[in-house]
Amino acid sequence: MPSKDSPSPIVVWFRDDLRLDDNPALAAAVGEGRPVIALYVLDEGKGAPRAPGGASRWWLNLSLKALAEDLAKVGVPLVLRKGPAPKTVRQVVSEAGAGRIVWNRRYDAPGIAIDTELKSALRDDGLVAESFNGALLAEPWDVKTGEGQPYRVFSPFFRAMNVRGAPAQPTEFKAPSTLLPQPPALESEEIDALLPLPSRPDWAGGLRETWTPGEAGARKRLEAFLGDRLRRYADERDMPGEDATSLLSPHLRFGEISPRRIWHAAGDRAAAREEISDKQLDKFRAELGWREFSYHLLFHFPDIGHANFQPRFDAFPWRSDAEQFRLWTKGQTGYPLVDAGMRELWHTGYMHNRVRMVVASFLIKHLMIDWREGEAWFWDTLVDADPANNTASWQWVAGSGADAAPYFRIFNPTSQGEKFDPDGIYVKRWVPELARLPASHIYKPHEAPREMLERAGIRLGDTYPRPMVEHAKARQRALDAFQTIKNAS
Ligand code: FAD
Repeated sequence: MPSKDSPSPIVVWFRDDLRLDDNPALAAAVGEGRPVIALYVLDEGKGAPRAPGGASRWWLNLSLKALAEDLAKVGVPLVLRKGPAPKTVRQVVSEAGAGRIVWNRRYDAPGIAIDTELKSALRDDGLVAESFNGALLAEPWDVKTGEGQPYRVFSPFFRAMNVRGAPAQPTEFKAPSTLLPQPPALESEEIDALLPLPSRPDWAGGLRETWTPGEAGARKRLEAFLGDRLRRYADERDMPGEDATSLLSPHLRFGEISPRRIWHAAGDRAAAREEISDKQLDKFRAELGWREFSYHLLFHFPDIGHANFQPRFDAFPWRSDAEQFRLWTKGQTGYPLVDAGMRELWHTGYMHNRVRMVVASFLIKHLMIDWREGEAWFWDTLVDADPANNTASWQWVAGSGADAAPYFRIFNPTSQGEKFDPDGIYVKRWVPELARLPASHIYKPHEAPREMLERAGIRLGDTYPRPMVEHAKARQRALDAFQTIKNAS
């Protein structure tokens, strides 16, 4: 407890905003000149937001360690607790004798319910409790149609967002160089005890090779993107072999960097360098816009995580097929682009966006397995598994979502590979057993002449699977199934 004469501390409750830079809640606390208590609560109980999957837990462990180090450098420890958030937060507030608590908002229904209730309970206790926007370019309730309704279609949503002008500049929230601690430090749990890293087996080797969770890692990714990739983003972002995208998604998911910082940094760099055209910049900002749109949908239609946005899909005749689902997860479908994507996901916790669309379409349409099964697999294995982006994107591919791709548009996994990875760079990286096939057949080994396969060291059905379903037949079966719900509302 603070002594009678010392000012009461402020609790900064970190959640999906694991950074010091451009963190409005932290900035509000710093402005007060009071001691700061930095708190993170792992809440996996009933009523809590969806528990993170395996890859996200790995990320969270390292991201919290990075945050703890960054906070220590500016003078305060990270207090880590586990338990139901409402009770645990109030407990910490009371132990600290805090007079004020601040946090950045979240937009999923369970998170909102907890925060709203907690805020009013804390206020009833006589405390100041405040929330801020640290995660979005615009609050979901600030972007409305002319009739005051939420948007259901991306293009007018994004136009309306832009009409509001550029998002706020982040500079006013620069990371503090020092914070006032409150001795003695409050008790804290060990990160490794709460979120153990995988050990038996240690499946995280590929994740470690690929990522540096934490604010410094996020800034490095942004710099690498601005330095080389942004100038070719619009032209090459669909080509999985070209490494043209930012790889910022997991950093954004855990709030290690703010979308405002990214938006303005990209604009500043484009203004300073002639070779970054408006086309490249606009395309990149539009993708940040898709993230905003997903959050807009999650906030206004909180069921999109589990229920079809278009109810007619409730009657869709999904198939249940555990073996086919297993082959899909393992990257053993016999379609090289699908297999490359699923193996990239397993190894790195990430998959290129174009390939995500193709593998999701394959599961939903070629195998007719419910999009929720695929969404759950992604939730467990993606390091960027995001409550808004993941579900909105799965529903988009399924055709059941808002502004979704029509169900009858069925990706051909062979021609998608030939179009977006014509030299087979991506497939050779992730399906090495096909690496010696010439580009002409790398996406259709099952059509390669026998001698070609022999020269490439491939035995179909042995070293690489034959296609698990025939494209034309699977496509027709999916279209027939769609006919059964087409006219339902
Ligand atoms: P960039 O191309 O560099 O884009 C910059 C940022 O914009 C991304 O980091 C991301 O935050 C946002 N963004 C880009 N594309 C989209 C999109 N289509 N929808 C929403 N936001 C987008 N993205 C996630 O962040 N988490 C998920 O769980 C997720 N699941 C997906 C599932 C499926 C089936 C599909 C088709 C897409 C999914 N996406 C998801 C969207 C997209 O694939 C990733 O955001 C993107 O591949 C991340 O790579 P990047 O950071 O290099 O993207």
